[in-house]
Amino acid sequence: MDLTPNALGLEEEILSAITQVVKRGDFVLGADVDRLEQEFASYCGVAYAVGVDSGFSALELSLRAAGIGAGDEVITQANTFIATVGAIVAIGAVPVLADCDVKGAPDAGAFAARLTERSRSIIPVHLFGRLAEMGPFVELARKHGLTVIEDACQAHGATVARRRAGSWGTASAFSFYPAKNLGSLGDGGMLVTDSADVADAARALRNYGQRVKYEHEIGPPIGRRLDTLHAAALRVKLPHLDAWNALREQRADLYRTSLEGLPLSLPEPEEPGRHVYHLFVVETEQRDELRSFLGKQGIGTGIHYPIPLHLQPALTSLGYGIGDFPNAERLAATSLSLPMYPHLPLDDVLHVAESVRQFFGS
Ligand SMILES: *Cc1c(COP(=O)(O)O)cnc(C)c1O
Repeated sequence: MDLTPNALGLEEEILSAITQVVKRGDFVLGADVDRLEQEFASYCGVAYAVGVDSGFSALELSLRAAGIGAGDEVITQANTFIATVGAIVAIGAVPVLADCDVKGAPDAGAFAARLTERSRSIIPVHLFGRLAEMGPFVELARKHGLTVIEDACQAHGATVARRRAGSWGTASAFSFYPAKNLGSLGDGGMLVTDSADVADAARALRNYGQRVKYEHEIGPPIGRRLDTLHAAALRVKLPHLDAWNALREQRADLYRTSLEGLPLSLPEPEEPGRHVYHLFVVETEQRDELRSFLGKQGIGTGIHYPIPLHLQPALTSLGYGIGDFPNAERLAATSLSLPMYPHLPLDDVLHVAESVRQFFGS
């Protein structure tokens, strides 16, 4: 996967946007940050967006701005990237893990089973780019007075019934890590929300709690700003996001038709737009053998994620053990991510599929 702007045909435009920032000199919270925030909010169909320095920070500030804090319990799934849980730990709250469903999607029933009187928030993750079924989470939150935060770090632009990822949560988090569906030239992120209060708190929080220079109204005094240079590059890319997601969907469809009939579980076909295929993840009991077979033919694959969070050494203090979340554990052992990016040549998709067929001897 080639992450250079050149690979997208956007090198000149991005360099020119960067040159303009260099000439203006508004490097911190400059004009492009404001404009990107307006453009990204409007893209997501929400009122406000607040640029921050990573997806992690977007999650952290979503929680802080929604008033979640020390001692509160926040429920999320065991099969996500560790940043989801890291943000909960960072604010002094207690991460409570729940199993995913058999296909790896967040499971509102499993979240509900983890409720206690200290539960304050739930974070469903639109994993791999597939928009989670949000109705049950919104209902669960309404019934128990919880705050919904969407982890949309893998799902920029995912849409169902014309609603975008990020438009259900009290606040939602996006990452602009270079390999994400909308990626910057380094780290970056965005918090989106319909709440003026949450947006206002997040704006202060990302900038040492100040609304007026050197008056630090709210704590903790932390800096989490999005650089103007990143915003300038992202503004060039955002208008292409829907087209890139459509290319990803097209590649997913081609994988599906050319991998049919194999002893391999594929992502289910979805209504157009629901799944923006940040990753194309298949499942097989022979995952490690298939991975090394493809590797020998020069086909790079990934595992997302090889160790579920409840078994990660960094999180042993949470007190979970083997057997706690069977779906997450099984998926960690059977999942394989095939090559997927917007400009992946269709011939390469066919070649990968052919190699997978060869592996299964068909
Ligand atoms: C990438 C990612 C994050 C964190 O984003 P960073 O920009 O790397 O901090 C959080 N959650 C999920 C699900 C992610 O994929």
